[in-house]
Amino acid sequence: MMLYQPFNLHLAHQQGSWYNEPRYLVDHKQLLEALKYCRKCACYTNVESTYRDGGYIKMTAVCDSCRHVIRNLYSHNMTAVQQALDAEHIDFSRDGRFDTPGHSALYSTYTLMDVKSSLIVASQLVKVTETTSSQAMEKEGLIRCRREVEDAGVCIGSLTTDQHIMIAPYMRKEWTELTHYFDLWHIAKNLKKKLCEFASVAANRVVGHWSETIIRHLYHVVVNTEPGSQLRIE
Ligand SMILES: [Zn+2]
Repeated sequence: MMLYQPFNLHLAHQQGSWYNEPRYLVDHKQLLEALKYCRKCACYTNVESTYRDGGYIKMTAVCDSCRHVIRNLYSHNMTAVQQALDAEHIDFSRDGRFDTPGHSALYSTYTLMDVKSSLIVASQLVKVTETTSSQAMEKEGLIRCRREVEDAGVCIGSLTTDQHIMIAPYMRKEWTELTHYFDLWHIAKNLKKKLCEFASVAANRVVGHWSETIIRHLYHVVVNTEPGSQLRIE
C-alpha cells in the first residue's frame, strides 16, 4: 500500500476526481482501499463510520460475511443457553459496561446472568445516539435484554441491579411484578465512598478508622437477615 503520494497540481487537474477528495496524511480513497477487504475472509467490507478530529481519523470497516457468521453463532449459542435453563423462575443479576468511564461513553453492553448457573442469558449493545444520554444507555440495555429473554420464553423471578438512577424508577413503574434486589457490593461501595467523604473533614476523621468495620457490619447484617426483611439505606 502506498501511504504517500507527492501532490502534483497538473496531474490533479488531469485526473479530476481525487483532487477534491479530503486529504489526511494519506488520501481518503487510499485509506478506503486499505480497508476494502476483510483480513479474515477476504470478502468486501463496508466502511460504516468515519470520525475525524484534527489530524486524527478513525474508520470502522465491517465485514458482512464475518458478521453474518458471528451473529449466527451467537444466536445459536444463546438459544441453547436459554433452553438449558431448568428453573421455572430464573434469578438474574446484571452488568452494564461502557467503552469510556464517566459521562462520555459512546457504547454500552448490558448483560443478564443467571445467578444459579452463572450463564450469560442475554446481552445487548446500545449506542448513545439511540438514547437521550450515556446515562440512559443502561436502562435501554435492560429493556432490550428483558425483551430478549421474554421472547425466548424465559420466566424471570427476580433481578439484582445496582442503584442506577434510571433503573430503580423503571423497575418500580414498569416491571412491578418482578422482585427487584439491590446488589450488596454496590451498596457497600457507595456507602464507603460517602464515609470517606464525611471523614475527609478534620472533625470527622475518626469515622475513617471505622469505615472498614462499618462495611463489614453491613455485610454481616444483610447475610444474617431473614429473606423478605427490609434494609433501609440512607
Ligand atoms: Zn470477513
